[in-house]
Order: sequence, then C-alpha cells, then structure tokens
Amino acid sequence: MIKKIKKNHVDWQQFLCGTPARDYIFQKDAYESQIHAAAELIKNADAVIIGAGAGASTAAGLSYSGKRFTDNFSEFIEKYGKAYMTDMYAAGFYPFSSEEAKWGYWSKHALMNRFTTPPFPLYKELYDIVKDKEYFVLTTNVDHQFLKSGFSDSRIFATQGDYGEIQCQRGCHQKVYDAEELFIQMDEARKDCLIPSGLVPKCPVCGGNMAMHLRCDNYFVEDEAWHESADRYADFLADIKGKKVALLELGVGFNTPIIIRFPFEKLVRENETYSLIRLNMDEAVVPENFGSRAIGIGGDMAKAISDLKGRIK
Ligand SMILES: [Zn+2]
Repeated sequence: MIKKIKKNHVDWQQFLCGTPARDYIFQKDAYESQIHAAAELIKNADAVIIGAGAGASTAAGLSYSGKRFTDNFSEFIEKYGKAYMTDMYAAGFYPFSSEEAKWGYWSKHALMNRFTTPPFPLYKELYDIVKDKEYFVLTTNVDHQFLKSGFSDSRIFATQGDYGEIQCQRGCHQKVYDAEELFIQMDEARKDCLIPSGLVPKCPVCGGNMAMHLRCDNYFVEDEAWHESADRYADFLADIKGKKVALLELGVGFNTPIIIRFPFEKLVRENETYSLIRLNMDEAVVPENFGSRAIGIGGDMAKAISDLKGRIK
C-alpha cells in the first residue's frame, strides 16, 4: 500500500537505508579510552543526534521478561499457557480470540510500559549529556521514556508509534486516539483476562476494530503530529549540515537496522565532520573505515552512559 504524502510534508523514506557496512569490526581499545574518546566527540560536537532502539530501554530497566513479566502477568500466563506467554514481547503476538481478550492484555501492557513506569536513570543521564546542546532524538521505542526524562517533544521523532494511543485497525483514517483513560478503565474492569464488551473500542469512522498505534503492518497510521515530527527531523538534518555532529546510537540491533543503524552509518559515510558512538550490548561492531570517527562500546550501556556523563560534566 502506498501512502499519500502531502506536498508540504517530508517523505520519511528518505531517512531509511538498507545498506549494511561490509567492514564491521569489534574495536579492541580499552573501555576507559573508548569512554574518554566518546566524551570528547560529544563535548566538541555542535549537535548530537541520539538514535535509540529496544536495547536502550532494556538496559534502562524496562525489562520485558523475567520477574517483571511473571510478577505482573501471572493470570495471563496461567490462562494462555507458558509456551506462549514467555515474555511481554511474545505475549503481544498471542492470537487473542476476541477483542475482549486482546484489550485485556494490551491495556495491561500499555499501563505497565508507558504509563506507570517512572523515567529511568539511564534516560535522565542521557538528557543531562545533551540538554545544553543542539540535539534530536530518533527512536523506534514506543514507551515515552525520552519525553518523561525531560527531552523536548519537538526534538523527538518516534517513528513506530506510541503505547498510549490507538488507531483504526485498518487505518481507514489518519488519526490516532489517546487511550490512557480507556486503558485505566479496562484494567480496573478486567476479569479472567477479559475486559467487558462495553469497553471494546470501535473505529468512529468505519465502525471496525481498533488496534494499538504500533507499526506492525501496512495499516500503521501516520497522523499530522507524526508527519510534523518527521519534518522537524528533516529540518534538523539540514541545519547541521557541515557542522561537527556526534551520532549517539543506543541499543539498535539488526532486527530493524534500516531506521537508525544503517542511516546513521550513511550519515557518517557522507559527512566527514560526523562521528558515530555506538553503544550495544552484543553488537557494537562499527565500520573499520570510519577509523577514529567511530567508537563501538559493548556491554553494560547503563554504566557506559553514567561514565560518559561523568566525563562530560
Ligand atoms: Zn476505521
């Protein structure tokens, strides 16, 4: 399905890139010297672009599995079985047999991961690192951590949606709806993992089912606010052309590399004043030909962010 893009909006496809580097290496430099070099790149940068994927929120403490899952979703695990209900990621793909069951699960998931979660220290430290700089955040995360931690709404482009919103399942009109109150009502009324039929939301335009506002198929709604964020990101990229720019990439793996990981590499390839700092638990490989313009730091990201902050202040 090809979406119509209004003339006055940027085409977000231009931000995407599907080309991986061919010369990835794990750098062998000592951790301390990597942190030092990364801090220098940020300190000397005119602008910083943060690109954050799932690994950032996992490192921050927003775990989808383990005790956080089993403690909070025990009734769902019991009802639907341990084989399916292994963690919140897998649970989201469970083929719920009714709208009452679907929203019974998703209202809980959204409240847990978007509404009742406090801003995590990792994000607050990140904010401290960039707050006095020209910065922009590009993220595939839908958990609102950047906004909660002080980042300006006008400097965030969350490309993949928001746990706090719902849309027509068939995307029949380009509008999203705030669902916080509805999710709270569902959570209070849920019995045996099901919400009452009276709380099942219906599309106000076509009367069909509603869905979470998450990019999972071609029906994802890109509303006016989404396009405005994309426009602001395009403007930011144009403004920083030719300046010293540090791209700080956090927890972006190879599941969805075409939104942040490969485009960041492309920006560094095409702009000699740009550099890449890649923080990633297991996949901190960087293109060898970037030389000292790339720093790949593996392992504990929360520690790396704290150490970076310590070096920059
Ligand atoms: Zn509809």
